[in-house]
Amino acid sequence: MAKAKRIGTENLGRFYTEGKVRNRREWRGLADTAYDYSRWLYNWFNMARIVLVKPRNIKAMFRYRWMGNYLAVPMMVDRHTQGLRGEHLRICHAEQDIIIEDVAKLLDKLFRADRRIGNDTEFNKKVVLIDENAMQSVMMGFPGIVPLSREIASTYIPVLLNQRAALHYIDIAQEYGLAGDVCPMPEAEAGLVIDDDAPIVGCCAIQCNTTCDGSLMGNGVVYKRLTEEGIPTHQLAVPLRHREDDVQEYAAQEIRNAIAFIEEHTGEKWDWAHYFECAKRVNFATRSRLEWMEMSKTPYPQVFGSNLALYTETNYMVVNGRIPLFNEADKKISALAQKAYEKKKLVANEYRHRAIIWGVQSHYYMDFLVWLLNCWGIIPLTDMLSMVSTKIIAEEDTPENREQAIYDIAWLTENMLMRNRTHGGYKVLLDELWEFVEEFNADMVILWEHMSCKALDGMHGQFEEKAREKGIHLVWVSHDLFDPRVISRQGVRDQINSYMRTVMREEPVDPSLEVLTDEESW
Ligand code: SF4
Repeated sequence: MAKAKRIGTENLGRFYTEGKVRNRREWRGLADTAYDYSRWLYNWFNMARIVLVKPRNIKAMFRYRWMGNYLAVPMMVDRHTQGLRGEHLRICHAEQDIIIEDVAKLLDKLFRADRRIGNDTEFNKKVVLIDENAMQSVMMGFPGIVPLSREIASTYIPVLLNQRAALHYIDIAQEYGLAGDVCPMPEAEAGLVIDDDAPIVGCCAIQCNTTCDGSLMGNGVVYKRLTEEGIPTHQLAVPLRHREDDVQEYAAQEIRNAIAFIEEHTGEKWDWAHYFECAKRVNFATRSRLEWMEMSKTPYPQVFGSNLALYTETNYMVVNGRIPLFNEADKKISALAQKAYEKKKLVANEYRHRAIIWGVQSHYYMDFLVWLLNCWGIIPLTDMLSMVSTKIIAEEDTPENREQAIYDIAWLTENMLMRNRTHGGYKVLLDELWEFVEEFNADMVILWEHMSCKALDGMHGQFEEKAREKGIHLVWVSHDLFDPRVISRQGVRDQINSYMRTVMREEPVDPSLEVLTDEESW
């Protein structure tokens, strides 16, 4: 028992079954197992408290096919905590707890507003529907408005919970005649509205361009449906070459237009005091993330892998300083990370390679980063979607800063995760990768090749050329983002397994993880 307290004492592959769930929970020593189990119970309790006890939410459970995936939330948390002990286990739970609570509140508000379920017309007057591809920074000056994203709730999160969650909607979009070679994320979002499976909410909506072919197509379909639902929709068009000085005035004007549109349709006025309060919290979150990244440049990284990726996606993209509780989580994570760092703690018992994870990651296999560490001793130091803006924005309310703030909101929006690297040119996608490789002292790049993301695939040869020149191991991992039928989770793992065995001539740290029976698993 005392032995199990140490990391790496159990072969983690032994827990997998051919079904949906594992055969048992991991034993981590008494204190950590009890703590981990308490969080499992807490998450059930929190979901029940916020969502399940309300009759309207039960009704939604039967109305929307994607709602069933939320039953797999505790299983998702278990996937991300595999092998963790002590401070690292607590960092992971601090993040998962607050993300789960935030998503539960999103579901509750969606169904309260939904014309088919709660149909709270007074509440709906203050709800603005936000496209999943839009940063919510444009909402930082509207304390009285409730921004909601129905795509986050119905497609984006369900795929994290159940790898097959989006397949039905992808098929619906293709049966309808839409192209099958586009990114499955916007394709699933288009399929959702074609299937009439999206809650009808909001007094108006904001759509934002990601400008890849699938996203433009998907937004067109969603826009048509919003129009049929009588929801006025504004297009927030963010410039592609977002690092160029000459596009910034245009980007700022787009933000002014979006604010004016929201004011017109909600009757709310932009509140500068509230904006600057949020800006302070955005800066706090940025400083915290920078602190964690500084640790990751040393031999003792503490906040990395899916702990960094999942939390950044939520905190940077959706929260934007609007929810004070996230700063409390930032503080907690930093304190735990600092404690572990001072003790020079490792997250796994063997570190062999330091890797930067680049490209758009497979959504149906987010715990791949945990697997890389446990199976092959590869530390996923940071990933492309976590390398978002690190700029400190204006946070004092002065006349000059009110003008600067519009540019700051535009900057945050331009640097939405994914867009800031897949669009913007050679420098942001290619050159900065090699700068990060040096900064983080990495010897390996794992390059996700999301096969439907043409923006990234076009540079395949240039990545290889540069990796050869720099003597960095570059491992391609193909996937199709939301569609595990094209490349399965084992198909993803096999690409690493064969590189590590044939090129690196290494044996796995934990051989039980090399081939897993998780085809049916949540
Ligand atoms: S993954 Fe690529 S293709 Fe898909 S939405 Fe993002 S940038 Fe567009």
